[in-house]
Amino acid sequence: MDSAVSRILKAKQYAAERDHRVKVHSFEVELHGDNHNHIVSYDRGEWTCDCEEFLLRGVCAHVMAMEEILGDSVEPAMLATPH
Ligand SMILES: [Zn+2]
Repeated sequence: MDSAVSRILKAKQYAAERDHRVKVHSFEVELHGDNHNHIVSYDRGEWTCDCEEFLLRGVCAHVMAMEEILGDSVEPAMLATPH
C-alpha cells in the first residue's frame, strides 16, 4: 500500500480508538461560553476553570464540555464537596 495512504488510515484508526490510544497529560483551552470566555486547564487529572461555579463546586459546564470532547483520554473531574 502507498505509504501516504497507510499513514492516513493509521491516523484515522488511532483517532477512532482515542479512548484507549490517547492519554492527555496537560492542556489549556479557551472555551467561549454564552456570557464569558473561560480558560479550562488540565494537568494529569487536575482540572481547573476560572469560573465561579468551578471555584464553588470543583466542576462546571466548561470542564464537563471538555470531558465530553476528550472522552476517556482524560481523567474525570472529581466532584468536590462545596465548602
Ligand atoms: Zn467553568
